[in-house]
Amino acid sequence: MRRLTTCVLFVLATAVAAAQSPAIEEEVMRHYQAVLRIDSTDPPGNESGVVAYVKAQLEKEGIPVQIFQLEPNRPNLVARLKGSGSRKPLLLMAHTDTVNVDPNKWVFPPFSATRDGGYVYGRGAVDNKQDVAVGLMTMLRLKREKVALDRDVIFLAEAGEEGTTRVGILHMANDHFDAIDAEYCIAEGGGVTRVGGAVKYASVATTEKIPRAIELTARGPAGHGSIPLQNNALTHLSSAVAAAANWVPPIKLNETTAAYFKRLASISTPEEAERYRAVLSPDPTVAGPADAFFRKEAPIYASMLRSSISPTIVQAGYRVNVIPSEVKATLDVRTTPDEDPDAFLAMVKKVINDPAVEVAWAARDTRPNAAPARLDSEVFRTIEANVTKHYSTIVLPTMLTGATDMAYLRAKGMQCYGIGPATDIEDGPKGFWAHSDQERILETEFQRYARFYFDVVRDVAGRR
Ligand SMILES: [Zn+2]
Repeated sequence: MRRLTTCVLFVLATAVAAAQSPAIEEEVMRHYQAVLRIDSTDPPGNESGVVAYVKAQLEKEGIPVQIFQLEPNRPNLVARLKGSGSRKPLLLMAHTDTVNVDPNKWVFPPFSATRDGGYVYGRGAVDNKQDVAVGLMTMLRLKREKVALDRDVIFLAEAGEEGTTRVGILHMANDHFDAIDAEYCIAEGGGVTRVGGAVKYASVATTEKIPRAIELTARGPAGHGSIPLQNNALTHLSSAVAAAANWVPPIKLNETTAAYFKRLASISTPEEAERYRAVLSPDPTVAGPADAFFRKEAPIYASMLRSSISPTIVQAGYRVNVIPSEVKATLDVRTTPDEDPDAFLAMVKKVINDPAVEVAWAARDTRPNAAPARLDSEVFRTIEANVTKHYSTIVLPTMLTGATDMAYLRAKGMQCYGIGPATDIEDGPKGFWAHSDQERILETEFQRYARFYFDVVRDVAGRR
């Protein structure tokens, strides 16, 4: 009887969690609008307003908060709910800064958090104040509902993600790692893709490419522009840039990218599926045509297949009648996590094949090399189960072509997974995505994400 009662209660609790009470929906929306209305555009950041709001909500309910700050007005907030300690902590991450705005481009003011036509509009709506709000709400619910925890649940609201990581994740990882040390972390970086209003798939970020830079320097004699020289440094540099850019580095799959294309094939048209399967083939005559198609028509897929090069900066010459003696170009290089940098540089040198051009790694804001998060871990499986429960769709483990703060934590051995709410693929070209002129989310999808997020955290950290 007792068992039965427990069981019935459990079923009821599950049903309530799936529906989520109107009071909770109202509350999480209130927190979301409150943080959207605080301008924390970075630069300069000024995340202290958001942090003060979150801190007050947590402390009101007796959840202790720590603040770690490297520079004035750039606080990082850490809150912890204690578990029994029988399993290691789970870290929830959300960044409190946003990219800048051009207010003239906004139909609704960027810090108004206007609700209109089923959407919420505001800078940070999907990057990343949705995670600030649902992370906060999850902490409050775990406490209020007295959810018994095996794992500590740590909430990190971090500053400076949008380009000033020294005050944010770097400060935490280098100087206060004890405060956030966990077995697993969940953060931004993934998301659910809707096409034509229907959910198509969920991306969960398990690894990312490493940003690097190669600098090309060509030298030759200076001279008068009226007398062409065969060893003109700029001519050498131009050929070198073209050679590097036109080179197609070999395909290099890992567990994540292989699973990504395999699973993507399972939900695609036969014609698309054939290409996704073809690039998995070790036979270049099979993979080659599909790869060539991606390079032209779907460059993000081509980038996911390999280390890549984009020329981005040229510094050359200063007046029309002077042949410059030294010119430089910078290549944005994104290597796969398992690429050997020395071997890659050697390949680039061979491709350029010009003794007049020096080819070398250059400094940039990079990320540490780190092993991908596992696809057979408890957290990945729990995310998958909750994607099925809340979105009835497939999970694509994803290697991000860009860099995130998760790299710093993966480098310390944490298993980090990037998740996110559902957005419409059509909203990108319309200018409503992260970093677009405007930013928005469907209210229904915000609420679904809040339910999904809470369930993932409870399932990972709750008592077994
Ligand atoms: Zn972000």
